[in-house]
Order: sequence, then structure tokens, then C-alpha cells
Amino acid sequence: MAGDVPSRRALLTGMVALPVATTVAAAERKERKPKKRKPARPKVQHVDVAIIGAGVFGAWTAWHLVRAGKSVRLFDAYGAGHWRASSGGESRVIRMGYGADTIYSDMAKESLPYWKDLSDTASLPIFHNTGVLWFAPQGDSYTRQSLDWFKANRVDHEHGDVRWLQDKWRQIQFYQGETGILEKDGGALIAGRGVQEVIADAQVEVERVVMPAPLIAKKIRKHRLPDGGTADHLVYCAGPWLAELFPQQLGGKIVATRQEVYHFGAPQGDTRFTPAELPVWADFNNGRIVYGIPDIEGAGFKIAIDVHGPVVDPDTQDRAPTPAGIAEARAYLAQRFPGLTDAPLIGARVCQYENSSNGDYMIDRLPGQDRIWLVGGGSGHGFKNGPAVGKRVAAHILDPALPVEPRFSYATKGTVAARTVY
Ligand SMILES: Cc1cc2nc3c(=O)[nH]c(=O)nc-3n(C[C@H](O)[C@H](O)[C@H](O)COP(=O)(O)OP(=O)(O)OC[C@H]3O[C@@H](n4cnc5c(N)ncnc54)[C@H](O)[C@@H]3O)c2cc1C
Repeated sequence: MAGDVPSRRALLTGMVALPVATTVAAAERKERKPKKRKPARPKVQHVDVAIIGAGVFGAWTAWHLVRAGKSVRLFDAYGAGHWRASSGGESRVIRMGYGADTIYSDMAKESLPYWKDLSDTASLPIFHNTGVLWFAPQGDSYTRQSLDWFKANRVDHEHGDVRWLQDKWRQIQFYQGETGILEKDGGALIAGRGVQEVIADAQVEVERVVMPAPLIAKKIRKHRLPDGGTADHLVYCAGPWLAELFPQQLGGKIVATRQEVYHFGAPQGDTRFTPAELPVWADFNNGRIVYGIPDIEGAGFKIAIDVHGPVVDPDTQDRAPTPAGIAEARAYLAQRFPGLTDAPLIGARVCQYENSSNGDYMIDRLPGQDRIWLVGGGSGHGFKNGPAVGKRVAAHILDPALPVEPRFSYATKGTVAARTVY
């Protein structure tokens, strides 16, 4: 009976952690007389670091720690890059243009070579160098600031006015006065499979376990793991689940919102929406940013509206796309991509952002704890920067004196306003 099975939330708050299959089996055995059992032997007696969450942040943290010679265990409630994770699904954008927010430009620049190296050695590409086209009305400050950063950092790009845009991409309808930048080194990353590749490259096995919040006490020197093993450090990379694990510290500070993406199919033989003819693109669209990815791996033309949806629970939210969302995407296509006006919807994904109050990531210790880290707040733009985030977390563990970047600190995270748009 479902009511007899302890809820995931009860497990988390009750400081018990069990392999997922065990929770169900335990409920079935409830009527039988309990047998005395020997405690299970820990899989590994002791590791330097236990990472909770095998999304893009956890995967790259594991990768960097292993490269630095640390022993690591990696736990995930559902497995690596799964369908409910924020890192799941087909594809993500990687770009360096971030307007004046150069901390993220620098991280993207740092991350790109890691993704390229991974892609070069994987059996199938993880990075598709399609270029990224950003277009906006003339005078847009984000465009100008990105352009300044590209020039200062010698990032290969082109830019031009509406005539340049319209001549180059005839499948897009541009408007009078628009300007654009093509960031040539950017493109698309394969999401769920990409995370699995990172973990395979790190040669770490993901253990499918629902981990509890840690015991918090001043004197703990070694953190105990569910099977009796221990770890010097705990790193919680739990994405949209972080606030559920740490309600007192993070309630209202990391908030999951529902996000829908749609994949439309161009007619057979129409190559205008493939990477050969179309880059990844983003339309400033009067502040209501719309972006998309050309047809990679046969997934069709992907489109998403970058506005925060309703607050959701990543475990239980239904993943069927809404008719209203599909209609909104179609209306946009009819204006900007007229060649896709009647294209069939061939797929959709419902995911969630794990938003912080200002869109900045969180990479900091749990308040009052030296060796428990909170890593998350990807806020709709964390995937590309997975390598740089993981590298930073590993650096903190290797050098405890390394100062936390104020933008990523716990102290700078406020309460997320409903429907904040960055
Ligand atoms: C629709 C959409 C489009 C996006 N587009 C882009 C983009 O174009 N470019 C970009 O850079 N970023 C983009 N992002 C953002 C990016 O995907 C996320 O910021 C990033 O994937 C977050 O990764 P994470 O590792 O923090 O979280 P997750 O991937 O969610 O990983 C967290 C993991 O922790 C596990 N976990 C949680 N609690 C427990 C527990 N108690 N025990 C064990 N395991 C647990 C979960 O099962 C999960 O696997 C997009 C996100 C969405 C949803």
C-alpha cells in the first residue's frame, strides 16, 4: 500500500537513507517478523569526499576531485543525468556572451575546453560547435557589453545590423533596427548523455541511494554514510532538491520552477533548421528571451521561452507539456520562423530551473560547517559552467583557506521573489 511506504521527504528529514529498491522491499516485509541482521559492510570504508547528486555540478566535481587524486563516492536518488534532473534532456546552450556579467563569461570560457575534450574522446559528440547568434533591438546594452568582452578576450565573433542578419539567415524573420552577434565558438551540449560521459570519464560509479541531510554537530570529524562508510567531506549538488534537504537554511532561497521546451519537426529534406544552416540562437524579444537549438541528433528544432514558470516539486511534477505553452511557442514560430508555422510538435520536455534570488550560483559551506558544501542555484544557466563549478568546488576542498567568491556565497542568497525574471 502506498501509504505504508515512507515518503522520500520523510526519509530525508528522518536522517535515514536507503537504496530506493530497499524502501519498497521494506514496506512489503513489514508484516513479517523482523530478523536480526548483520550490519551491511560498507562498500568502501572511507573516502575523501562523498558527493550527493549526479547532475552536471556533481559529475564535474567528482571528475576534478578524482583528477586531483581524491577518493570519491557519488550518490544519486535516480541515477546520473536522469529525466527529472535539471541536467536531464537532450541539449543545452553554451555561450560566453553574458553582457556585463563577466564572471559567467569567464566561467564559460574556462568550461568550454573541458567539454570539447570530453566530446573528442566520447563515442558520440557531446559538444556541437554550431555558433550562437544573439539578436536584439539596436542599442541593447547586453549586446554591446558582450561585444566589448568578446573583443577584450579575443573571442571569435561577427556582428552586424539587420541587413547582415537577414542576408545570412533567411529562415529567420528579423525586424527593422535589430542587430546581432554570432559567437563562433559557442554551440550546443548534449545534456543527460553528457553528464553520463563525464562520470564515465572520471571512472566513478553512481550509487543509487536517497541520501539524507547530514547530521550537524560541531565534533563530527568523519561524516557517516548510509552503509556505514565514512567521508571527510560532503558535497551536496542536489540541484532543485537542495532546499528540500536543507529547509531551514535554503527554504525560499533555491526555488524550482517549471520550464517547458518544445521540439518541432521540419519537413523531410528541409535543411534550413539544421546546424549546417542555423546556429543556436537567442532573441532578446523585449526582455522575454526566446532561444532555440537547431536540429541536433534528429531531435528537431528546439525552442524555449526563458520565463520562470510556476513553482514545482521536481519529484512529483507532471511532465506533460501544456497546450498553452505549445500555442505560445507556435505563435512565436509563425512570426520569427515562418517556415515552421505548420511544423508538427515531435517532442517536448518539462524540466525545472533551480533559481536563486539573483540568478547567481551557490558554492559555499553549509553555515557553521567546515566540510559540508552546498553547490547549486544553476538558475537556468548552470549546465555550460559545470566544468568550472566542479573545478572551483574541488579547489575549495584541496585548499580550505581559499576564499569563497562573494557572488556564490550563502550570505548573498535572498528569498526568491515569485516569478523573478533575470
Ligand atoms: C529547460 C531548461 C533549459 C536549460 N537551458 C540551459 C542552457 O541552455 N544552458 C545552460 O548552461 N544551462 C541551462 N539550464 C540550466 C542547467 O541545466 C542547470 O542549471 C543544471 O543542469 C543544474 O545542475 P545540478 O547538477 O545543479 O542539478 P541536477 O541536474 O538536478 O542534479 C541534482 C541531482 O541531485 C540528485 N539528488 C537530489 N536529492 C538527492 C538525495 N537526497 N540523495 C541523492 N541524490 C539526490 C537528483 O536526483 C539529481 O540527479 C537549463 C535548465 C532547464 C531546466
